[in-house]
Formats: sequence, C-alpha cells, structure tokens
Amino acid sequence: MTVPDDCHEQQFLKNANAHLQALIQAIPDMVYFKDVHGRYGMVNRAMETVSGIAAGRLAGMTSEDHLPPDAAARCRESDRIALEGNRPVQTEEYIDIPGGTRRHFDIVKSPIRDAAGDLLGLVAVCRDITERKNIEDALRRSEKFNRDILESVDEAFIVIDRDFRIISANKAYLDQVKRPLREVIGKACFAVSHGSTASCHEQGEPCAVLETFATGEPRTALHTHRDREQDPVYVEIKSYPLKDGEGRTVAAIEIINNISEKKRLEEQLRHAQKMEAVGQLAGGIAHDFNNILTAIIGYGSLLKSGLAPDDPLRHDAVQILDAAERAANLTRGLLTFSRKQPICPAAVNVNEIIGNTERLLRRVIGEDVEIRFQPTCGELAVMADVSHFEQVLMNLATNAKDAMPNGGRITISTASVHLGPGFIRTYGYGKQGDYARITVADTGAGMDSRTKLKIFEPFFTTKARGKGTGLGLSIVYGIVKQHSGFIVCDSLPGAGTRFDIYLPLVQGRAAPPLSPGVIAPGGGTETILLVEDDAAVRKLIRNILERNGYGVIDAGDGEEAVERFRENSDRVQLLLLDFIMPKKNGNEVIAAIGQIRPGLPAIFLSGYTADYVARYNTSPYRAAFLAKPVSPPQLLRKVRDVLDESRA
Ligand code: ADP
Ligand code: MG
Repeated sequence: MTVPDDCHEQQFLKNANAHLQALIQAIPDMVYFKDVHGRYGMVNRAMETVSGIAAGRLAGMTSEDHLPPDAAARCRESDRIALEGNRPVQTEEYIDIPGGTRRHFDIVKSPIRDAAGDLLGLVAVCRDITERKNIEDALRRSEKFNRDILESVDEAFIVIDRDFRIISANKAYLDQVKRPLREVIGKACFAVSHGSTASCHEQGEPCAVLETFATGEPRTALHTHRDREQDPVYVEIKSYPLKDGEGRTVAAIEIINNISEKKRLEEQLRHAQKMEAVGQLAGGIAHDFNNILTAIIGYGSLLKSGLAPDDPLRHDAVQILDAAERAANLTRGLLTFSRKQPICPAAVNVNEIIGNTERLLRRVIGEDVEIRFQPTCGELAVMADVSHFEQVLMNLATNAKDAMPNGGRITISTASVHLGPGFIRTYGYGKQGDYARITVADTGAGMDSRTKLKIFEPFFTTKARGKGTGLGLSIVYGIVKQHSGFIVCDSLPGAGTRFDIYLPLVQGRAAPPLSPGVIAPGGGTETILLVEDDAAVRKLIRNILERNGYGVIDAGDGEEAVERFRENSDRVQLLLLDFIMPKKNGNEVIAAIGQIRPGLPAIFLSGYTADYVARYNTSPYRAAFLAKPVSPPQLLRKVRDVLDESRA
C-alpha cells in the first residue's frame, strides 16, 4: 500500500510536534515562550508546578500578573535585553516567596525569529538553583568567618607552597611588610619578608618552613632581621604543616612574630639589674674605703697642724692630704652612684635652682659653647638636695661641652609633665604621676646605641686616658634614682644628645635654697662617750676631740658602750656612735642608755646614708647624723651644734 507524499509529510509534522511537546514537557527546568509584549505563550509542566498556575491560565499573562513587583521588574528588564539582542542572554534572578524564603533561578533567554527574520518573542529556560546558592552562601560565610579570624589576629600569618612562594597572607603580615596583597601573592617569602634574593637557610639562618616540609612537623626558629635603620629586628617564626588527603605536606603555615619589643624590655630589665649589682659592689667597696680615708685624712690633718709653717715635712703632709682628698672625691662619686651618699632633700623650685647655677655653668662651659635657659613659667616644686641637683647639671653640661669641641649650643629647659602608662610601656620603667622634667640638650657629636647602653655604668668612658673618669653620668644616675626620679637619654651619632630627667612634683611652695653654712670648728669641755668598732677611726676621733678640749670615754662595741656608760653615767653629755657594730648596733645602744638617761643627745657616725640610718633608727628619739669620711672641722662643728642645741 502506498501513501501519498503530502499525507506522509502531515503525519511526520504531527509526530514532530508531538515529539517536541513531549521533549519540552520532559525538561525538568521551567521552559516558557513569551511574545514581544512579554505575554506567556506555551509553558511546560515544570513552569506550571513552580508557579502554581495551570498552563491554560498562564497563557496571555505577563510577569506582572503573577510575580511580586520587584521580581517582575527584573524579569521584564532581562526580557528586554534578550529581545533587543541577537543571542541568548544568561541571568540570575530571584523571587522572594511570602514567608521569608528566597528562590534563585539561573535563566537563559533566547530571542526567536520567524523564517523572514521578524522577531516573534523569546524562549526561556529557567533552572531553580536555590539549593546550590544556599550551599555557596554557607561556604562563603564560613570562608569569611575563617578569614575574619585570621585578619583579627595581630600576628602576621602566611601560607607558603613547597617552592617557598606565598599563597595566602593576612592583614597583619601585609601591615608588617607594608605591601598590598597583590604584591605578595606568588612571591618568595624571603624576598617579601626580608627583601633578600636568597632563602634564609642559604644565608645561614635556621628556616622553620624548610624543616616543616622535611619532617611534616611544626617547627620554631628565631631570626634577626635588620630594619631600614639597620637596627636589629628580632622575629620568632613558627611553621605548621598543611597536609592533603594522603598526609603529604603540600604547604606550610608560617606565623611571624616581631619580638623586638619583648627583647628590648628584657634587655632593659637586665641592664637595670646589672646597674643594681654594680651599685651594690661599688657601694660596698666605697663604704669600707671611707673608713680608711677617714683615718688617713684625720691623721694627715693632725700631722699637718702639728708641724710648724716652715717645717719641710709640711709639704709632704699636704701632698698626703691632697691625694686623700682626691680619693675621697672618687669614693663620694661611687657612693652617690650606689645611693649611699647622704642627701638632705627639701622642697625646692627647679627653675630657681637652675637659674642660680647659671653663672657657675657658664664659667665651666667656656666661651665656645652657647648656653640657653628655657624654664617653664611658674614654679616646679620637687624634693631635692640642692647641691646634688647642681652636681647633676654640672656633670651633664660638662659632658655636653666635651661632645662639642668645635663649639655648639647647650639648652637647659624645664617642663611640667604627666607620665602615663605610655611612658612605662616605652621605657620599661617609671611610675605614673606628675613630674618636673629637666632637659639638657646639646648639638654635639651624639652617640651610637651601643655607647648609650653603657653610659651610666661607673668607669665607662670613651674619652682619652686622663680626660674622663667615667663617673659623671653614674653620679647623675645615682642622684636621680635617690630622688625617686628617672633619666632618659636620646642620642644619635652626629645629631646631638638630649637627657630628660623626671623628678616627682610635690604640692606646696618651695623654700628658698639655703646657702651652705661655712663650717667653723669649735671646741668644748664636755665628756663624750665614743663608740666605734674600727680601732683606727676610734683613735683618730678621740684624738681630735681631746685636742679640742673634750673628755672622751671610748668603747669598741655596743655592749662595752652600755657598760662604760653605766660606770660614767653622771659625766657623759653626748653619745657619738657608729651605727652598724658588733654585739649591739647603734639603735640598741641608744635604747639601753635611754633607759638609764632619757634624752641624752647622740650623733650617729656612719658610712651609710642619712635615709638608711633614719629608716633603721627605731629608737624613740632622733639622733643627729654625720657621714663618713668626716673631716676634723665637720666633726667638731657637729659636736658643738648638738651639745649647744641640747642645752637650749
Ligand atoms: P666621662 O665624661 O668621664 O667619660 P661620663 O659618665 O660622664 O664619663 O660619660 C660616659 C660617656 O658617655 C662619655 O665618655 C661619652 O662617651 C658619653 N656621653 C655622655 N654625655 C654625652 C654627650 N652629651 N654627648 C655625647 N656623648 C656623651
Ligand atoms: Mg663626664
């Protein structure tokens, strides 16, 4: 049986149409046609299911008829782009479903033309990608969370591949190397971290990352880098392995910690401890030395005063006394450094003291160096020993002058400042509060950081032999410490030097500075009980007192002293006693004697400071104080004063 051709074709077309229908219906994505006005034509089953509208009803509707207004507007816009163009357009759109969920769609819209090329409308294939989107969002959120953690840590952090190339870096690292991320990714870690062309291990530095790749284990190493000023930067490097599914180390996480600040504070602490130890040692020696000098100066003086003015031996005695005086100066310096030199602090105005030393300083500094005073307005009251304070200014000015052999300028200025936690953090010492700041700055040679570290140590000098003793700044240091203050030195080679001294401000008005009294010797006829364990010193003092008319009963230790007093209690008018003695110390002697005769005047004679004695003097009444080594006129003056006072 034969079938006519046109019938065959009709059959074929009918079948083709049915095939096409079946195909479109079978596609799980939504498929719909729209005419040039945006009206739906044919839609598939998926479209019916998702929109919840039957195909028959959808036909002729527009997006506006079934979508929320914002979604409809977005849809119309992508329709427009598809219709105006010549090729398929891919967009992602979303629809907010009432109830708070959002559905995402991946849509491809293609224009359709008839055989003549006229635009008929568009066909859209629309896939629901909500699940994928949700997973992506969750991933992105988790990535951001992880990233935020790393960015919030202020430890520098990079990930390095096996070729030592950086594949990730956090903000702290970028801040540390001062570069943006794009200049870091893909670069060798050693090139970025320390601007070097070779790896650290090739330059002899231990490399934690190399070891982590070799062993698959975490590693730590310490590196020393140099910053732009060539100062050392100490970094601690920790490296952790990043492994793949098979346990192979594919990358290393490197954490770089700048520990320079920690190192610096440790260094400062060590330095302070060293200064303390040196101070103890120097102070101990100086203290014993003082006793010896007391004997030398005392006997030397007696010797000299016993010789006629024209006696040829007189010259020798003078030489002995001169040398001993120099030795005593040195000892005093050491005692000051170790804070064992007595001070007599009073409330004084810093500006006034500086003003008073101006003439003296000008004389010391000479013509070539200009000296300027820039005090703050108003009064800066501190508790200070004026003569010690002047010594500080003298020593600093002398050093400044030495640093300016070809002339220059010294500026001495003052200010009232508040020291907060920032100061303590920076310098590793200090105490919060209000301070008078005294600044001595020069325009001299300056010094490098190595020198700066040592300047306060006794006997440290960079000056030629015979030019410097190395004690100037040690004395300054000791005095400032003894005044509960701080000293900071700022200096760079060629850029001058600046010393800032901070002394605690006190409330209230400063007293006018006292001019040191002229010490005039005097004698007497009273009886004095002398207690001193050092036989040479005891004999000397006895000698001086007796030559000036006093009666002396002496004792070599505390117990003997109490015994002697019992025997002579009606005669003794003054106690002159060492503070630290075997058997009974000065306190105990005074306490025992005080029970027999309350109120008997006493003078402590000690190589320790007045502070020290005052702190340990627990007896109910205050004894006067005389520091060793004591010259005969000083001794006589004090004895006379105390006796006269007790009578008044
Ligand atoms: P001396 O002056 O006897 O050397 P110091 O203790 O006064 O001892 O000073 C110690 C060292 O500190 C000096 O030798 C010098 O190297 C350095 N120094 C102190 N003050 C200054 C300054 N103003 N400028 C440069 N260097 C200084
Ligand atoms: Mg000096």
